[in-house]
Amino acid sequence: MSAEARAREDICRLAKSLFDRGLTHGSTGNLSAKLEDGWLLTPTGSSLGSLDPARLSKLSWKGELISGDKPSKESFLHLAMYEERNGTGPAAGAPAGAVIHLHSTHSVAVSVLDDVDPADVLPPITAYYVMRVGSLPLVPYFAPGDLKLADAVRRFAGRHHALLLANHGPVVAGSTLAAAADAIEELEETAKLFLLLHGRRIRALDQKQVDELRKRNG
Ligand code: ZN
Repeated sequence: MSAEARAREDICRLAKSLFDRGLTHGSTGNLSAKLEDGWLLTPTGSSLGSLDPARLSKLSWKGELISGDKPSKESFLHLAMYEERNGTGPAAGAPAGAVIHLHSTHSVAVSVLDDVDPADVLPPITAYYVMRVGSLPLVPYFAPGDLKLADAVRRFAGRHHALLLANHGPVVAGSTLAAAADAIEELEETAKLFLLLHGRRIRALDQKQVDELRKRNG
């Protein structure tokens, strides 16, 4: 199997798993993966539960459709993450091989809260959250399809692989699809815990514990 055929299969298998577990609904959510000669993205209006590997949108790095169905209208979010993290933006971070965007319920709920720190929305309540997500800035709200959202994402994407779009949902880049999925699922579970703990006194990890985890993870 070629690397591209494998990437197509991997996207569809992971998308179905995310959909089946209720991590995104209807035709929301989109996944992408980098190829040797462009990138693959889930098509517009498609349910993540029933994707066809042969019909995924294949795009150039200019965002043009090479083959497959019309791409997700949120393709610009993915392109912004790849460009900023893969060295073509001003503050490139760790390279991205895949990007996942979901409308996962608990993360969206947190994206609506008014009393969070927009520089880092969730507290470091578990070690796995610190290792897989780290910090989570809130990207200001823009209407779906507004290209100003891409510019807003670019401002954060070089320094953060996980972003929370206000009143919308999370976008996470990873070195591989599996790494991006691990991070976005950890984010969703942490958002769920955070909401579950609302009104309780909590003991988050302290700065020393966070720093030690970061050092250990490089
Ligand atoms: Zn969206």
